[in-house]
Amino acid sequence: MMFSPVHRFRDIERKPEYLHPEKCIPPPRLGSLGTMWFIRDGCGIACAVITWLLVVYADFVVLFVMLIPSRNYIYSVINGIVFNILAFLALASHFRAMLTDPGAVPKGNATKEFIESLQLKPGQVVYKCPKCCSIKPDRAHHCSVCKRCIRKMDHHCPWVNNCVGENNQKYFVLFTMYIALISLHALIMVGFHFLYCFEEDWTECSSFTPPTTVILLILLCFEALLFLIFTSVMFGTQVHSICTDETGIEQLKKEERRWAKKTKWMNMKAVFGHPFSLAWLSPFATPDQGKADPYQYVV
Ligand SMILES: [Zn+2]
Ligand SMILES: [Zn+2]
Repeated sequence: MMFSPVHRFRDIERKPEYLHPEKCIPPPRLGSLGTMWFIRDGCGIACAVITWLLVVYADFVVLFVMLIPSRNYIYSVINGIVFNILAFLALASHFRAMLTDPGAVPKGNATKEFIESLQLKPGQVVYKCPKCCSIKPDRAHHCSVCKRCIRKMDHHCPWVNNCVGENNQKYFVLFTMYIALISLHALIMVGFHFLYCFEEDWTECSSFTPPTTVILLILLCFEALLFLIFTSVMFGTQVHSICTDETGIEQLKKEERRWAKKTKWMNMKAVFGHPFSLAWLSPFATPDQGKADPYQYVV
């Protein structure tokens, strides 16, 4: 590919003969491949726990303040089932986004043998990450929280305590979507419950005292409104960047496009899987991305 002004954004660029692979730690042995991906970052873990607690709080208020004391049995059962299924899918997406390797480039692969195996022509340039001693594929960026280079890194999200990259973007998008949906559902139920309480004169509308009921409902209302706005904006931004095939980092840095342009539908399938099916909405279905060669280098 052409050598463009983009190169100044790269962490480091060297001709292969100037790489010092002997300084790099050897690539990890096979044993570490089976272990789970989990980022040990205090701030990220705290944010992830807060996320679960907020969902648990919302579920508690929905069930014990609004639905169980309600006398309308069918209304309670239907809304209870819908809310809990959506909350379960939101948490499942959260776990998949957090525990899936977002596309980490093997550490310390900048070895002499590896560089020779790339069969570079004289004058060809590869990018080496000085922090993880690896040869960076095109569109990979180094994340200082994950301490790894991540393929198609979009951003590091503390709420899911992980980078959003090539392999977990689907789960992240589903997470924002399901959180937006439970927030909207909770807001609608709070609206109906307030109407019901005004009719019932606040004495029969909840098993808690009227002041406690009002505080719990207002807190839920505030939480749901805040997260509805936050996650729906995030969902829109993510779908837009998937359709245009441009990561958040590339949009920020206004990087020149060096990769082939595809249709919006093709780009969506590349993230959510081939072909279009209900599996797109399932955090349990691992998308079959039909990946291109993961070692496409800027040359
Ligand atoms: Zn790196
Ligand atoms: Zn990261």
